[in-house]
Amino acid sequence: MECPRCQGSLEELSLGDVSTVSCPHCAFADVPVDHVREEDDPESWRDAFNRFYEANTGGDDVTGGDDVTGGDDVTDG
Ligand SMILES: [Zn+2]
Repeated sequence: MECPRCQGSLEELSLGDVSTVSCPHCAFADVPVDHVREEDDPESWRDAFNRFYEANTGGDDVTGGDDVTGGDDVTDG
């Protein structure tokens, strides 16, 4: 097996069940992993918190509708 870069001899590496090859000449590595882009942030922590906050408050009445003045007659009689 030859390196696609420099056509040198590749070294085979075994990582558990996964085996890959790397080139000791040009540092080429055929790593069989998914292409994970860290720049692709699906949701930030702030957005997640805001969504959680809006879900709990409902977004309608935040002041409430209860009478704080009370309705009991203290002047009974
Ligand atoms: Zn190489």
